[in-house]
Amino acid sequence: MAGIYIHIPFCKQACHYCNFHFSTSLKLKNDLIKALLIEIELQKDYLDGEKIETLYFGGGTPSLLSADEFNLIVDKIHQYFNLDAEIEFTIEANPDDLSLQKIKTYKNQTAINRFSLGVQSFLQADLEYMNRAHNSQQATDSIKMIQDAGFSNISIDLIYGTPTLSDEDWLINLHKTFQFEIPHISAYALTVEPNTALEHLIKNGKSEVVSDAKSRDQMLLLMNVCDDNDYKQYEVSNFAKDGLFAKHNSNYWLNKKYLGIGPSAHSFNQNSRQWNIANNVKYIKAINEGSIPFEKELLDEKQRYNEYIMIALRTHWGVNLENLRETYGFQQFKSFCSEIEKYQLEGKITISGDQVLLTQSGILEADRIASDLFLV
Ligand code: SF4
Repeated sequence: MAGIYIHIPFCKQACHYCNFHFSTSLKLKNDLIKALLIEIELQKDYLDGEKIETLYFGGGTPSLLSADEFNLIVDKIHQYFNLDAEIEFTIEANPDDLSLQKIKTYKNQTAINRFSLGVQSFLQADLEYMNRAHNSQQATDSIKMIQDAGFSNISIDLIYGTPTLSDEDWLINLHKTFQFEIPHISAYALTVEPNTALEHLIKNGKSEVVSDAKSRDQMLLLMNVCDDNDYKQYEVSNFAKDGLFAKHNSNYWLNKKYLGIGPSAHSFNQNSRQWNIANNVKYIKAINEGSIPFEKELLDEKQRYNEYIMIALRTHWGVNLENLRETYGFQQFKSFCSEIEKYQLEGKITISGDQVLLTQSGILEADRIASDLFLV
């Protein structure tokens, strides 16, 4: 089975740390929606007729769309793709866009069955530091409203490692999440991406430097507290109650095909990756002329191997030794086994049956360990 991702490239306000593709002007919203409908038809063969098990509206801010606008896009997808009856249909939402009436309309008039809410923090100072458009009250109110409208499959995004977040604050954020019985958490360390407002503010001494040591300590806290509260860390940054792993996220990590529609959206068909142009005006123009503006990269065996190691090691499924031997040959399998020995001795990697897994101390260094194991 495969997934479809739709990118809605508009936001009310630019968060300081964000390097996703979005525009704060909604002027082109209608033209963009029309272009999405055309692209869906143009891409109808990309997934070779595979059944779709997850549909994900991300951004940007999809909660800027009305129920009618969602339905227009979803009807078009129905026309050209085969959707599974048990499809996971997620919408990313920001707390400041939501009202009980709006969520009820989504519930009653669309097929949306999962919310991914960009809370990031329940603490006002933290939200202001990140330049989020919502306040602390809206963060809690929006969760209550989503639950009151009848949605239970909810994920929230949280950010740790900000200069404004003490360890005590971080525990407050996590415990609030548990109190709401949110079944899925995506938690990310704040990173300073190039060309963001945050990078600029730090360079000019207007914001404190983000500390790696603090992020590491808060990640450890996160892992321990989630474990104590029966959340499974099924990927380095993702935690879920049993059975509520996100199909959308899992699809990426299990190497399944996905199609991305909209400016900057990425697609993957197991042999190549492609990504649409990250420019709303150019995207709309090209699509209206009947062509999809994208760049493409064919993946050779080395790239496929490195991607598999990087992604699989970050998950609770781990690297599967039998799969590695069958796909990449005995020599590669042998050299992988000897390369991981030192991490086993250091207690950072463990083997369970055919699965090679990171331990808790390994997870704290996941990227470094994976890159050490890459083919160069
Ligand atoms: S709402 Fe999301 S996509 Fe928009 S600027 Fe903030 S982090 Fe970026």
